[in-house]
Amino acid sequence: MKEDKNISGRRKKINETLKGISASKKISKVYYVLILLLYFVANFFTIQTTRGEGFVNVFGNPVPIQNFTGIYSSLSSVCVFFLVILFRRLGFFTSLFLIFANLPMQIMSFFVRQSYNSLTGLFTTSVTLLAISIIFFNNRRIGKYQEKMREIAVTDTLTGLPNRYAVTVYMEDLIKKNYKFTLVSVNLSNFKNINDTLGHKAGDEMLIEIANRWRNLADSGKTGTVDFVARLGSDEYALILRGYVENEDIVKAIEAYEAELERKIMIHNCDFFMTARFGYAEFPKDAPDAGVLLSCADAALHEVKKNGGTNKVLRFTPELLKTEHYLAIERRLRVALDNDQIMTYLQPQYDMSHKLVGFEALARLQDEDGKFISPADFIPVAENAGLIDKVDIAVLRKAANFLSEINKDGEKNLRISSNISVRHLMKNDFIEEIKNLIDGMGVKAEDFKMEITESIMIDSDEKALQRIEEIKALGMQVAIDDFGTGYSSLSYLHKFPANLLKIDKSFIDVMNTNESSKQYVATIISIGHILNLEVISEGVETSDQIKTLEEIGCDYIQGYIWGKPMPIEEAKDLTV
Ligand code: C2E
Ligand code: CA
Ligand code: CA
Repeated sequence: MKEDKNISGRRKKINETLKGISASKKISKVYYVLILLLYFVANFFTIQTTRGEGFVNVFGNPVPIQNFTGIYSSLSSVCVFFLVILFRRLGFFTSLFLIFANLPMQIMSFFVRQSYNSLTGLFTTSVTLLAISIIFFNNRRIGKYQEKMREIAVTDTLTGLPNRYAVTVYMEDLIKKNYKFTLVSVNLSNFKNINDTLGHKAGDEMLIEIANRWRNLADSGKTGTVDFVARLGSDEYALILRGYVENEDIVKAIEAYEAELERKIMIHNCDFFMTARFGYAEFPKDAPDAGVLLSCADAALHEVKKNGGTNKVLRFTPELLKTEHYLAIERRLRVALDNDQIMTYLQPQYDMSHKLVGFEALARLQDEDGKFISPADFIPVAENAGLIDKVDIAVLRKAANFLSEINKDGEKNLRISSNISVRHLMKNDFIEEIKNLIDGMGVKAEDFKMEITESIMIDSDEKALQRIEEIKALGMQVAIDDFGTGYSSLSYLHKFPANLLKIDKSFIDVMNTNESSKQYVATIISIGHILNLEVISEGVETSDQIKTLEEIGCDYIQGYIWGKPMPIEEAKDLTV
């Protein structure tokens, strides 16, 4: 296990990692030099062939040397295009320099030698100049958007702390380097009361004050560890601790954060005394990767919250993952799958003129007493138990059946969006399974959209991208679900060959509370459109939100305001 000794050095590395997350990938300068070389070679031959008087033997036929000028001059234009596309500003100015350096020679050659080839050359040069200017200024516009999005992608807009995505990337960086560290999940106690009694503005002030205190504490180094503080969402924070020797050091550091929080906080002239619960887990002892480590820390947090009492800090132990509740859900899930009891609910999706365009299919599971178990509880259990593919297919089958019925009398052009878990998607027989299901039901692949969360890009390898292409090759569309929650880096968005972007509810919730959140959603929509994606907003609950979404050019709406998820029979009524 590696450890680096110097505290300020480690702090610097945290900042570098954050910067690294928000920077775009650079292409090696070696290619720049190679393209330049190719340009000069092509240019040299262009000049030589323009002046050349003789003939070259091509397949037994004499061809005038001057006929080759076009080939070489096109090749130099191609080099110029590549420079601008790959090296943006540097490439553009290099290209301008090269073109203008060449221009006097072309003009001279035309006037002095009255060469017809030079006239074509002049024309090609002007067109190239125009084309590279268009490419450059268009790229610059997209680049500016991307830069803004990358910055927003790693920062929590309310507190300015790193966000959930930054936490994941930072952890992955540490894991790659094989550094020992501890992830602490933090949840404020009774924060909801403050929001409910004093309003959201006071709640926001509280979250900012806590963020400032913890950031200062982390920067002071007084905890004895090197700490990274982030806000994961609402009243959840995370700490990543490094540079400790034993468990006691971790507990001491957490207690320092606890003490800092529990000092009196004054908001709107009222005194508050906040407390929080802390659950933690360690890499590599408790979990081999960032995703599992998050679940472990959350499980410890969940347990310490459930227990109540005075104990506020708990370390993860493997038994926590399999609680009684968890096991009961797993049992119920197996019985429901065996007896075809997984239900499909459909939530309508509309265009901006309130015309129905389709439904999202959502899984529903009831316990033995008929009470609904939340998908937030049973979907993770299904994932861990390796049952998620069966759930996805059960839901999709019923949705496909519904579609075949409503499309029986005339084409309604409604689409079904279906959630596909990443684990399911990566199974070897995924495509075959989906194809068989569709073929056997008399529905068209074109009527389906597969919703895949952007987390697929985290472990993204060629296989994931290939799978998405295969879905598209079947004729289905692909939607990026929960966009903005985890892996919202625009540098990956352009690689994700999707048709539709679903903006997560958490962004719609805050969109109308401050200008920067509204701009964030507006930027996502613009970028989506630039990348040829349609955009749907989910979790829309108020008419004000619809108004804003109309204003900023959103394409589709899904949310309680126009329709909650409903049983299939009710959904049928919507289509008549
Ligand atoms: P999701 O894919 O993001 O689905 C949207 C969730 O937001 C649904 O919750 C829906 O009921 C809820 N929602 C939609 N509009 C509103 C609104 O205006 N206000 C509020 N408060 N909520 C709204 P649901 O049905 O509880 O599903 C939760 C998650 O469970 C889904 O999130 C999805 O990730 C997962 N899930 C559900 N069914 C399936 C399935 O068949 N397969 C897989 N793999 N995952 C599923
Ligand atoms: Ca979804
Ligand atoms: Ca979603």
